[in-house]
Amino acid sequence: MDTSTISMLREKARGAVIAQGDADYEEARKVYNAMIDRRPAVVVRAEALGDVQAAVDAAREEGVDLSIRGGGHSVPGFGTNDGGVVIDLSRMRDVTVDPGSRTARAQGGATWADMNDATNEHGLATTGGIISTTGVAGLTIGGGIGYLARGAGLSCDNLLSAEIVTADGQVVTASEREHEDLYWAIRGGGGNFGVLTSLQFRLHPVAEIYGGPMFFELSDGADVLRFYREFIADAPREFGGFPAMQIAPPLPFIPEERHGKPFVAFVACWAGPIERGEAMLKPLHDVAPVVAEHVGPMPYPALNSAFDALVPAGLQHYWKANFETELSDAAIAAHLEHGPKLPTVNSTVHIYPINGAVHDVGQDDTAFGHREANFATVIAGMWPDPAENDANTRWVKEYAGAIAPLSEEGGYINFMAADDQGRVRANYGRTYDRLIEVKRAYDPGNLFHLNQNIAP
Ligand SMILES: Cc1cc2nc3c(=O)[nH]c(=O)nc-3n(C[C@H](O)[C@H](O)[C@H](O)COP(=O)(O)OP(=O)(O)OC[C@H]3O[C@@H](n4cnc5c(N)ncnc54)[C@H](O)[C@@H]3O)c2cc1C
Repeated sequence: MDTSTISMLREKARGAVIAQGDADYEEARKVYNAMIDRRPAVVVRAEALGDVQAAVDAAREEGVDLSIRGGGHSVPGFGTNDGGVVIDLSRMRDVTVDPGSRTARAQGGATWADMNDATNEHGLATTGGIISTTGVAGLTIGGGIGYLARGAGLSCDNLLSAEIVTADGQVVTASEREHEDLYWAIRGGGGNFGVLTSLQFRLHPVAEIYGGPMFFELSDGADVLRFYREFIADAPREFGGFPAMQIAPPLPFIPEERHGKPFVAFVACWAGPIERGEAMLKPLHDVAPVVAEHVGPMPYPALNSAFDALVPAGLQHYWKANFETELSDAAIAAHLEHGPKLPTVNSTVHIYPINGAVHDVGQDDTAFGHREANFATVIAGMWPDPAENDANTRWVKEYAGAIAPLSEEGGYINFMAADDQGRVRANYGRTYDRLIEVKRAYDPGNLFHLNQNIAP
C-alpha cells in the first residue's frame, strides 16, 4: 500500500493509524482467534465517523483488502488481512439508553458487555450473545442468537435502524423508512454492505433472570436431550436455555473429582418473573439427578458474562454449525457419540433453540433466511495449544460430519469457519438471491468481501 495513503490517513483520522513497524503494530494486527496470523498494511483505530469514511475511501482507492473489526471474534479472522486496511472500531463503544422509548443506541464497536451493562441500569435488555466480549454489530448483522431469542426474537429482529458508511464512503441511515432494502439486508446478511457505525435497538424489560449451568451424567444425556426437544417446542417464551456438551471446569460448585470430565450440561435462563424461576426449572431437575449446578437469580449481564473466562482471547478456534428443524433420535445419538470426546475444557457444543418469537417474524421480512429451523447447533473447537491443532480440528470435523446429514444443509453464518465459503448459498438460505440484488446496489465492486461473502 502506498505510503502517501498512510500519511493521508494519519492527517485525516482522529484515531491512531498504526502501520507496519509502529510500536503498537504487533498488538493491533491480532484478532481473537490465535490461528489467524496476518499482516495488514494499516490499522485505523477509528474514533469518529470521519475516520471510518477515510479508511473506506483509502481501501477502495488503493484496491486493497478491507477488514471491519468490532469485537474481533470472527472465527475465520475477517477482522484482519494481509496488506490491506483494517478498521478497528474498538474505540467506538458508547451505548446510550432511552428508557422512555425503550431503545438503545450502540456505536459500531460496542461489545455485549457494553450494551448489557448500560441497559441493565434501566432494567432493560435485548437479545445478545452468550459471551460478553463479542461485538454487538458483528453478531447482530448475522442474525444474533442468545438467551432472550425465544421471547424477544433474534438480535437483528430488535435492530430499529443503523448508520452505515457504504462502499462509496457515504453515510446513510437504514431503517423501516430509509434505505429499506439495506435495512432488510443488514438483518441477517452479515458485513457485506458497509460499516455500521451506530445501531439502534428495541429493548425489553429484563433485569434479573433465574438460571445458570447444570451438569448431568453422560448416561442421562439422551433423557436430557429428548426432554429438551419436547419441552422447548412450547415452553413459555421467557425460557431460553440450551443443552451443551461440556468438560467440567475447575469451579468450586463442581465436585473436585469430576473436574476435567465430560458432561451433558444445560444452561438455563428464565427471563420471566423471578419467583417462578425455580418452578420453571423443576421439570429439568426431574429428568435426572444433577451432578453440579450454579443456578439461581442473577442480573442478566451476569449470566451473559458467566462463561467469558472459558474463552479468553488468544485460543485457537475451529467451528462448524448447522440449523435443524428436528432434533432427531439419530442426531441425539450422534451428539452422545462425539460430544464426550471434547478435547479441551474450552471447547463446547451448543444446541440453541430458535423458535418462539424468532418464528413470529416473516420468513422474508429480514435477510435471516432460516426461520423454519427450530435449533441452531454449533460445534465450537477452542484450545490453547497450537500443537493440538490437528486433534482438535479432527474432532470438530468428525462431529460435524455425523451431524450434517441429520440437519439442514445451511448453518448460521456467524458460526462458520474459514473453509465454509463453499456453503454460502445454503448458509444464507432462502434470502440469498435477494441479498445478491442488494449487494449489487450498494457494493458492486465487493469492497466488503472479508465476510461470508455475497458475490455481487
Ligand atoms: C466466543 C464466541 C462466542 C459467540 N457467541 C455467540 C452467540 O452467543 N450468539 C451469536 O449469535 N453468535 C455468537 N458468536 C459468533 C459471533 O456472532 C460472530 O463471530 C460475529 O461475527 C462476531 O462479531 P465481532 O464484532 O465480535 O467480530 P469481528 O471479527 O470484529 O467482526 C466479524 C465480522 O462482522 C462484521 N462486522 C463487525 N462489526 C461490524 C460493523 N460495525 N459494521 C459492519 N460489519 C461489522 C464484519 O464483516 C467482520 O469481519 C460467538 C463467537 C465467539 C468467538
